[in-house]
Amino acid sequence: MELASKLLLLLLLSCGTAWEIGALEEGGGGAAAAAATTAAEAGGGGGRGIVVEDEDVVVMYDSAVFNGSLGLVGEERVSLSAVRRRRRSKEEYLRLFVEETQWYNDLVLGLWMPSRWRDKMPHTLQTFLRNYVAGLVVYFMSGALWCWYVYKLKGHHFFPNGGIPAKEPVLMQIRVSMQAMPAYVALPTLSEFMVEQGWTRCFPRIEEVGWPAYLGLIITYLVIVEFGIYWIHRELHDIKPLYKLLHAPHHIYNKQDTLSPFAGLAFHPLDGILQASPHVVALFLIPTHFFTHEIMLFMEGVWTTNIHDCIDGRVWGIMGAGFHTIHHTTYRHNYGHYTIFMDWLFGTLREPHGRKAAHAKSS
Ligand SMILES: [Zn+2]
Ligand SMILES: [Zn+2]
Repeated sequence: MELASKLLLLLLLSCGTAWEIGALEEGGGGAAAAAATTAAEAGGGGGRGIVVEDEDVVVMYDSAVFNGSLGLVGEERVSLSAVRRRRRSKEEYLRLFVEETQWYNDLVLGLWMPSRWRDKMPHTLQTFLRNYVAGLVVYFMSGALWCWYVYKLKGHHFFPNGGIPAKEPVLMQIRVSMQAMPAYVALPTLSEFMVEQGWTRCFPRIEEVGWPAYLGLIITYLVIVEFGIYWIHRELHDIKPLYKLLHAPHHIYNKQDTLSPFAGLAFHPLDGILQASPHVVALFLIPTHFFTHEIMLFMEGVWTTNIHDCIDGRVWGIMGAGFHTIHHTTYRHNYGHYTIFMDWLFGTLREPHGRKAAHAKSS
């Protein structure tokens, strides 16, 4: 066996990483016991050690001093070829994520960037650019279509008494969003990088867990996101310096005629990243289907468009614009994101005007 690769592996093993992936073999232990005895004879104080038994097997042992003499308290035999096999299959597994993100990069960047340029770029830079383009498309398409529908096509229905925002606040929201966009798209770029490195619990194919487990995991993911965004948003209000520094720029739009679908991403960059961060935290907590995570992250652009149009959709349990407009005017209610359940649970829910009366009438 080449000495260099053996030393590298021993280094990994001593860092503890290969404890997890090492294939253990039963029996033996004479080498470790002999090593412990040798250490005792030499007057050592115990600890962790490694003995190379033969070409393929190393023995990792722990020793300790009892009543003045050194004894062996534990050992683990590791097959180096098994470690290599397991490591190779992990690399192959992670390559699936890289192939997937490269496919997205080629799809989005290939539309306008020659491949000879793309090929010279590091993979993560391509990913950042692709996310940037995707972020722009999601923001402008959803904002423009939403505005066209609610103001132009259905304006007389949704705003019979006026209240359609003027051009100035909308342009300001677009400017603030554009300033923050490079920082926003750094978040999915970071999450993709971490997924590709194998640091998260992401999996690439739904078949790996099956549809029932997949649906259960998505619900859990959404609960984590809902809980995380609720508390981050609430603390951005409760901790006054944070509010002043980060969250206040989003709250200058506090009337129906200043809020618009384009306010959905009009945040201080750090505010936007903080509020989206539960999507990334979830990847470390539960197994998450990678593509679904990507969709969830980008759907935020559509969802935030929806909750800033000031139109009360009246869908039970959903934190629609009726609730979020109240948040923009009272500052103390309706911190939730997709649903009203966190506000209900933590006592900050306030229903839109007329809801209670309507319930009373119908009951
Ligand atoms: Zn707020
Ligand atoms: Zn808002």
